[in-house]
Amino acid sequence: MTDDNRILIAGAGPVGMISGCYLARHGIPVTVFDTLEATASDHRASTVHPSTLDMLAPLGMADRLIPMGLISPVFQFRDRVSGGIVAEFDYGLIGDETDHPFALQVEQHKVINVAHDLASALPDFTLLRGHTLTGLTQDADGVTVTVRGPDGAEAPHRGRFLMGCDGGRSETRKALGIDFPGFTWPERFIISTTEYDFGEAAKGGYAYRSYVAHPDQWCALIKVAGDDMRGLWRVLLPATGEEPDEVVQGEGWVQEKLRDCLPQGAPYDIQHRNLYHVHQRVAESFRTGRVLLAGDSAHVNNPLGGMGMNGGIHDGMNAAEKLVRIWRGEADPDAELARYDRQRRPMATKFVQAQSIRNKEILQEKDGPARRAKLDELAATAEDPARCRPYLLNASLISMVREADATA
Ligand SMILES: Cc1cc2nc3c(=O)[nH]c(=O)nc-3n(C[C@H](O)[C@H](O)[C@H](O)COP(=O)(O)OP(=O)(O)OC[C@H]3O[C@@H](n4cnc5c(N)ncnc54)[C@H](O)[C@@H]3O)c2cc1C
Repeated sequence: MTDDNRILIAGAGPVGMISGCYLARHGIPVTVFDTLEATASDHRASTVHPSTLDMLAPLGMADRLIPMGLISPVFQFRDRVSGGIVAEFDYGLIGDETDHPFALQVEQHKVINVAHDLASALPDFTLLRGHTLTGLTQDADGVTVTVRGPDGAEAPHRGRFLMGCDGGRSETRKALGIDFPGFTWPERFIISTTEYDFGEAAKGGYAYRSYVAHPDQWCALIKVAGDDMRGLWRVLLPATGEEPDEVVQGEGWVQEKLRDCLPQGAPYDIQHRNLYHVHQRVAESFRTGRVLLAGDSAHVNNPLGGMGMNGGIHDGMNAAEKLVRIWRGEADPDAELARYDRQRRPMATKFVQAQSIRNKEILQEKDGPARRAKLDELAATAEDPARCRPYLLNASLISMVREADATA
């Protein structure tokens, strides 16, 4: 049992770790529980948007992360049918709106580890790895969670508030009985990584974040720095057929698809392959009493646009700022936490869900005239600064943060 004058966080992914870091920096004792013994280094988020870098800068995280990643000043939409670039969006156009007019291509595990490094230097931060939240109860003064430790034994821990940052299958959300409506895409998403440098002019000259439309086999190419900073390209491909998971994750399937989508002479040197089932869901509430949901526990979306982790970090920071005000006696807990739900939940639908679904619809459109219209619309948006600015403010989630902050 921890002393109860603290905030509990379930989940040490990017959202839980950054929220914990923020709270501990503000002198609030925080205990973070995570099932995993170490940070997962699977191939998930790789893009940190300008809005998120602006938010992470005061924590000292942006300066630490930028040298670990790749600065990506533009992103592209391409058409595999015509073979051309449809639209290139340049963050320079919103250079007056952000201190970071670029996306940072940096792996999720680096984000978590930097937050952990900063947080673990603070006296009020405790991370308990190998600890899984299995249940919770709450009363007027606090929350009691049941946590299964590394030895398999369950023990209660008590805190004044709980942040459920425990991912898409959140036990916190389930324990609160909060519904998670939405849908699951029928195709599986296959991510493979290669050192083949699609960014070289002779190999296509792809921007570090490139989305490639095709009626049958669209794809996305994303460059990350890699742990040795030599650079790795992630290729995201949908598996639309009936083949079993082990087939579509196999070397042969991936080589064949890469040969079709991105032809080159020799087979690709493929270093990793992963398969994901992808959902679009938003929790019916982001808060019950003294318990808040943030990140994937509250909303999940497809990775086209790179918004899930970014939106989750925005939730976590919004919630943590409110908890600081409550802790200091500057705000009424009930009103402040209700405002968290009002500020973040509608935004998840309006911005992250809408844009990620729209991006996928553009890439996969099969109907010829509809396809042409979608790609023409993108091209016209990129070419017209008056339309491109709002597009970039949405795509970088700056508009979402501002609209949330302006919500009473
Ligand atoms: C292929 C792919 C690419 C993506 N690309 C991007 C991108 O470029 N940009 C972007 O913004 N997003 C991207 N995302 C989404 C991003 O990965 C997620 O939105 C992000 O991981 C959410 O962070 P989180 O901290 O909310 O949850 P998670 O990262 O899922 O972390 C949850 C943590 O909680 C722990 N946990 C779970 N249950 C319990 C429990 N009961 N008790 C204690 N601990 C528990 C887990 O071990 C885990 O460490 C991508 C996702 C995928 C799959």
